Amino acid sequence: MKILNNISLKSFHTFGVDVNASSLIEIESLSDIYTAKEKSCFNGSFYILGGGSNVLFLTIPEVIFKICFKGISIIKEDDDYIWITVNAGENWDDFVRYCVENNYGGVENLSYIPGTAGAAPIQNIGAYGTEIKDTLQRLNALSLTDFSVKEFSNKECAFGYRDSFFKHKENGQWIVLDSTYRLTKRNHNWVLNYGNIKSFIENKTLSLENIRNIVIQQRTAKLPDVSVLGNAGSFFKNPIISTEKFEQLKQSYPEIPFFSAANQKIKVPAAWFIEHAGLKGFKKGNVGTYVNQPLVIVNYGGATTTEIIEFAKMIVRNVSEKFDVELEMEVNIV
Ligand SMILES: Cc1cc2nc3c(=O)[nH]c(=O)nc-3n(C[C@H](O)[C@H](O)[C@H](O)COP(=O)(O)OP(=O)(O)OC[C@H]3O[C@@H](n4cnc5c(N)ncnc54)[C@H](O)[C@@H]3O)c2cc1C
Repeated sequence: MKILNNISLKSFHTFGVDVNASSLIEIESLSDIYTAKEKSCFNGSFYILGGGSNVLFLTIPEVIFKICFKGISIIKEDDDYIWITVNAGENWDDFVRYCVENNYGGVENLSYIPGTAGAAPIQNIGAYGTEIKDTLQRLNALSLTDFSVKEFSNKECAFGYRDSFFKHKENGQWIVLDSTYRLTKRNHNWVLNYGNIKSFIENKTLSLENIRNIVIQQRTAKLPDVSVLGNAGSFFKNPIISTEKFEQLKQSYPEIPFFSAANQKIKVPAAWFIEHAGLKGFKKGNVGTYVNQPLVIVNYGGATTTEIIEFAKMIVRNVSEKFDVELEMEVNIV
């Protein structure tokens, strides 16, 4: 367990806002959590941090716990499947790379998503037509109420679109310790219908490695590099609207893109609304929407959390006034 006092959080979250925490504790094992408890570190306000790629710090809790414990282990396998457990502090993309290199299929479309394996189930990360709910079998989490460890099945995680059990009533009350995925060893379930993967793969061998490479190419072309421009990926969720509302919009905008969602609803890319509100590449002070992807709000350098939040609220207001659609933030505001 490493304790860092009076530390800038700038390099601990991808938005790169310069805010200070009085204490940041790096947790490297379950026993570190119990040691921290004995030292009363959980008695005041605290926050559980992974790679910081989906957070903005507005108020700073007394203690930030950064989850660092590593490890990937094979639990069991048969001819078709392998069950692999990944500890919460592992970098998510290192885990994906490990799977692809070993020809274990199911997470390749989720290549290059920043952050830790422990945070991935919290918002059910997704990209290119897949989400971790498609392969996650179970996870172990520690309750911050009684410090016991509970196993959650996939069903108990109550995954939804960028959503899970852990984002609701008991938000912040659990530390994900590890999660187990069932991956294919053969007869992989290819998901090729998103982001032109199909057309890119046409002249190549259909392999996990090629899918991963295509996804990485597309992501790097579209998204800003966090080491150059601070951001947290998609700032807003894609709104899910009724078919009536969609038909109404379609009359004015026949080219409006859409995907079908559950319960006969329609999901429309939030980026489309932002672009058609005239805010693609729009910049105000140190904050703006990214030129190649308006769903990403970027810190052009020196932005404060308040500036970023005010900018996001301005987008929500504009989209609401123009389309009568409410955008919901995907980024966690602490
Ligand atoms: C450039 C860029 C691209 C992105 N692309 C995508 C994408 O395609 N799809 C997608 O879904 N997301 C995407 N994201 C968002 C982000 O990568 C994911 O939300 C990721 O899972 C966050 O991981 P993290 O470790 O950085 O979590 P953090 O930002 O540190 O934390 C996120 C939330 O999880 C909680 N948390 C973290 N670790 C734990 C733990 N061990 N136990 C309990 N709670 C925990 C935190 O308290 C917080 O509420 C992108 C972000 C960036 C910067």
